[in-house]
Formats: sequence, C-alpha cells, structure tokens
Amino acid sequence: MLLGILFGYTMTLLPWGKSLIQDWISPLGTIFINLLKLIAVPLILASLIKGISDLKDISKFKRIGGRTILIYISTTIIAIVIGLSLVNILQPGANITEATINKLTETYATNAKISSRIAEASKQQSQGPLQFLIDMVPQNAVAAMSNNKLMLQVIFFAIFLGISMLLIPEKESDSLKKFFDSLNSVVLKMVDLIMLGAPYAVFALLAKVIVTADDPDILIALLRYAGTVVLGLLLMVLVYILAIAFYTKKSPIWFLKQISPAQLLAFSTSSSAATLPVTMERVEEHVGVDQEVSSFVLPVGATINMDGTSLYQAVAAVFIMQVLWPEGLTLSNQLSIILTALLASIGSAAVPGAGMVMLVIVLETVGFPSERLAVGLALIFAIDRPLDMLRTTINVTGDATVATIVAKSVGKLGKPNIKDWDDHL
Ligand code: ASP
Repeated sequence: MLLGILFGYTMTLLPWGKSLIQDWISPLGTIFINLLKLIAVPLILASLIKGISDLKDISKFKRIGGRTILIYISTTIIAIVIGLSLVNILQPGANITEATINKLTETYATNAKISSRIAEASKQQSQGPLQFLIDMVPQNAVAAMSNNKLMLQVIFFAIFLGISMLLIPEKESDSLKKFFDSLNSVVLKMVDLIMLGAPYAVFALLAKVIVTADDPDILIALLRYAGTVVLGLLLMVLVYILAIAFYTKKSPIWFLKQISPAQLLAFSTSSSAATLPVTMERVEEHVGVDQEVSSFVLPVGATINMDGTSLYQAVAAVFIMQVLWPEGLTLSNQLSIILTALLASIGSAAVPGAGMVMLVIVLETVGFPSERLAVGLALIFAIDRPLDMLRTTINVTGDATVATIVAKSVGKLGKPNIKDWDDHL
C-alpha cells in the first residue's frame, strides 16, 4: 500500500507518469478485481448450499437468519446515529465559503459521473416499495448467476436449493451435497491462489487512486467534512471492538489482525462484493466461524449491511444541507434521514460509489431542492473516493463482526483452521 502511494505520488511529478500508471500498472489491479469477482458467484452458491445442507435441521437456519437481520439493522442504526450526532456537533458545513462552493460547482456540477448518479437514483426511486422483494426472486437462475449485481438473487436461489435438499431423504441429496462440498473447497483454494497476487494488485490499485486524485486545494476545503466521516468510522470500529471483546470474549486486536487482509482489500478495491471471497476465507479459516453461519451471514451482509456507507450518508446529507439548505435541517427531517439512510444502505450495491447514488435518494426524501442536487453532490465529490475506500473497509469489518457474534450466539464459533495455498502440493 505504502509503496503504491509513494510510486503514484512520484509519477504525478513526471509528465508521462499518469499514463504510465494507467496503461501499464493499473491493469494489474483490474485483473485482480476481476479474479475476485469471477469466483464470487460459485463461492456464494457452493458455500451457502454446503452451509445450509450441513444444518440437518431448518429451525437452526431460522435462528441464524432472524438474528443476522436483527443485528445488521441494529449496527446500521448505531452507525447512522453516530454519523448524525457528529455532523450536528462538529458542523463541518459551517466553514464552507461562497468561493469554495463556486469553485466546487464549477469543477464538478457538470461532471458526467454526478449526472449519472442522479439519473440512477431517480430510476431506483420510481419503483414501488416492494420492488426490492421482487428483485430478490430471480425468474431465471442462470441469468441471476451471470450478473454479479444480482447477488441477492443468487443467495435466494442457493437458500431455496439448500433448504429443499434438507427436505429430501439424505441418500437422495447426498451426491449433490458432495458436489457442492467439493466445489466449495476448490473455490476457497482459488481464493488462496488469487491472494498470492494481492500485494502487487494493491500496489497497482493505490498507485492508480493517487494519480487520478483531485486537486489537493479542494481536498483541504473539505477536510472538516472528511474528518467528521473518518471520526464516525473510527467510532464504529470501537463499537465492533467492544462487541467482540464483551460478547465473544476474544481479543479484538487478534480479531482485527485475522481479518486485516479483507480490510486491506476493501480499502484498495472500494467494493465489499469484490472483497467477499476473502472476507469469507478469513472469517471461516482464521477467525473460526463455522461455515453454517458465515456462508449465510457474509454474502447477505456484503449486499445489505453497510454500516460505513450509512454513516457516510447521514454525515454527507446533513453536511450538504448545512451548506446549501440550512432551513431544511429540522428534527423531523433528521429523523427521516435515519430511516431513509437505513433503507438506502440496504439497497446500495456493494460496488464503488454506490453510496453516492443512495445519498441522492436520502436528500430527495427530505425534500432537498432538486435543482441544487448537482451542486450538493459537487461539494462532496472530490473526496468521495478516499471516503469510499474507508467506508467499504468499515462495511466489511461490520460483516465480519456480525458473523462472529452470530456464530458465538449459536455455539458455532470454534478454533481457527488455517489452510495455506500449498498445503497439498
Ligand atoms: N463501495 C461501498 C461498498 O462496496 C458502497 C459505497 O458506500 O459506495 O461497500
């Protein structure tokens, strides 16, 4: 990471540095992310089907499922409340001058990415309230598996198949179970192999982030806002640490160390979905969470549990309102931010920048003047990538924490069972 940052910075000083990184270094990072995405669907499928069919009894699944959703919603609400409290206490919007607003508007308001995010948000908003349930149920299993954005559909199919396997006599489901058990071990081995390339890929990804970063002057104007988000995210880590220490009685430092490769990857890729294979491997093999729990809790978490993103949405929404629409900062609007940010984080895709799309929805729900939306997003756009990296790290840490807590609560937190890539070479 450090070498990537240093290299990226050095290259910004050379006239050909940026194109060198974009043409020759950054493909390495893209290939690595592609490899991780490549195994996401087979991994979810194999591990979820294996996890459920290992259960022997459906009532256990109900217990795990209910707890998972409840804890996910609770951690997300905690995150939003932390974000809202901080942004109201620290008032990061107070020191933004008219000149800064103009500069940011000039630079970004017409940016194609901003308009595409607003367009995407309005597409999602025009749907009915139960659309998310409809979206979860695929009409074609193969089509669902052919698109990484349809992860919840794959999860639905895998759970459905796994439960049905439990309902038929064991000798009839046996061969299918063996197939998925074996696929599961193979895919986990693929994670080990892909991770051999991680140091080089992380170097490439960070060098690219540095050469595509924005003008440092603009970043400095947004420092107070960014600081508020970062402080909130750090407090969230504290919440996780306390939960691990008190509930599971494990050392939080040990826990963070075990999952650190997943955190590092989340930071470098800004995508919890791309990180999922590594999160699963770390939580199962290195923390000791039984696969019956992790195979359900982690893929579901990657898609619906985004504590970092929801905290960011609360801070960003209020920050934008402080600068552009202070009269809208009523108590009732702030309360509705809690609800919409919760729903928005469930609805956010686990890919870079998704949080910003949902931010538009949060702002529109509280009645933010739509003609000022582009200016609002322009305010935070410059610093969005680094904050995305950080919030994704928190999203992944939150998923791993909840998986460990749920495992402990159902007696499925065992000893780590680390497998190296060349164990059987
Ligand atoms: N990049 C985040 C994730 O994948 C989502 C977001 O906050 O934009 O978890």
